[in-house]
Amino acid sequence: MKIAISGVGVAGPTLAYWLRQAGHRPTLIEQAAQLRTRGYVIDFWGHGYTIAQRMRILPAIRDAGYAVEEVRFVNGRSEEVGGFGVDVFRRVSDGRFTSLPRGDLAAALYQALDGEVEALFGTTIVSLDEHRTGVRVGLSNGEESDFDLVVGADGLHSNVRALAFGEEQQFAHDLGYHVAAFDVFGYAPRDDLVYVSHAEPGRQISRFTERGNRTMFLFVFADRWMVGAEPQTAEERKRALMQAFWGMGWEWPGIAECLAAIDDIYFDRVRQIRMPAWSTGRVALIGDAAAAVSLLAGEGAGLGMLEAYVLAGELAASEGAHRLAFAQYEARLRGFVSAKQQAANRFARFFAPRTSLGVWFRNHATRLLAIPAVAERMVSGEFRDDLPLPDYRFERARTPLSAEM
Ligand SMILES: Cc1cc2nc3c(=O)[nH]c(=O)nc-3n(C[C@H](O)[C@H](O)[C@H](O)COP(=O)(O)OP(=O)(O)OC[C@H]3O[C@@H](n4cnc5c(N)ncnc54)[C@H](O)[C@@H]3O)c2cc1C
Repeated sequence: MKIAISGVGVAGPTLAYWLRQAGHRPTLIEQAAQLRTRGYVIDFWGHGYTIAQRMRILPAIRDAGYAVEEVRFVNGRSEEVGGFGVDVFRRVSDGRFTSLPRGDLAAALYQALDGEVEALFGTTIVSLDEHRTGVRVGLSNGEESDFDLVVGADGLHSNVRALAFGEEQQFAHDLGYHVAAFDVFGYAPRDDLVYVSHAEPGRQISRFTERGNRTMFLFVFADRWMVGAEPQTAEERKRALMQAFWGMGWEWPGIAECLAAIDDIYFDRVRQIRMPAWSTGRVALIGDAAAAVSLLAGEGAGLGMLEAYVLAGELAASEGAHRLAFAQYEARLRGFVSAKQQAANRFARFFAPRTSLGVWFRNHATRLLAIPAVAERMVSGEFRDDLPLPDYRFERARTPLSAEM
């Protein structure tokens, strides 16, 4: 089948890879002019890790990754007031855990396609017209083309979702926070392999030292710190962040100077997407487009890969009977993903506490993670997925897992 995939992020290239394995002809359509690398740093483990292993890209992921040693909470004077060793994540996941820039994961997934998949960069889908035997897809470059199926893998603000299901607002569930991130060259102080974080009520700044003398900053703040309308341009976003963190202590004055000088910034609401269905007719959604769990779940990338893999697997298993495949795909994963969304909801206040007491409690509670038995108990529930990864027969034989390491 000819299958159009909107989005070359995490889920899109994963789907293209497995569709190719099954002998389909995917076309990737990405609005950015080129593949984006770097970006905010994400934790990566679980089913996503196993799927990456099956795609034989673990070496690239490990090369781009960091073996973070510690999450350190500090007060305004940079004194340690809480935190934990990250080693517990590696112990609980049998070493199958790394942290890497989201863009580097997307690049590794895209490179796994080996140039065998058509990719249209700087292009977006502007119309979907479903007919009896397929979907006529209109593109921003003025062309029109027929596809058997269309998949939206175009993230939180999915364009395919808007075209096929309607406005985002109907499916959005805001968690009461905003998030921003940017990276800079040459910032000091540096703390290699330590995720350093400072919180004041409803506002939190974290920094992480990267290779090449770069530092990534991540900001999470309660909606009450947002002034005015949602910013659209980079300049408006910088201004909104300046206002939200106005008067913050710790390293903020130096970070604000960095902020003034940058021209690329990630800025968004912390939002989940909850759809009544993940497909309609010949159009399906995967990744954040279908069911964003938000950064608070810490697993969105892996879940996007899981959804891509299962959708391709179900299409292979049903020999192209797309209605059956879409139904099976959703039936297998919906409950699992909803549970992740609920867990993220519960975690929100712990991640970025809204009151002084909340910050104090969170910082002290994390000290419990220094006790290995407690740490393993607390973390293992999150890390061990009770959903077994299905094993599909894709047409082209895959190398056994043991040979892929
Ligand atoms: C600050 C932050 C921290 C996070 N931390 C973690 C973490 O620790 N672990 C984790 O697993 N996840 C984490 N996540 C979540 C994770 O990044 C996402 O869940 C994941 O990237 C979703 O993958 P995706 O492919 O669905 O969407 P994306 O990765 O967002 O990719 C979507 C792609 O679609 C493209 N696109 C958008 N609109 C269009 C259009 N109209 N036409 C064509 N293309 C379009 C975009 O340019 C992009 O390339 C975090 C998220 C944030 C914001």
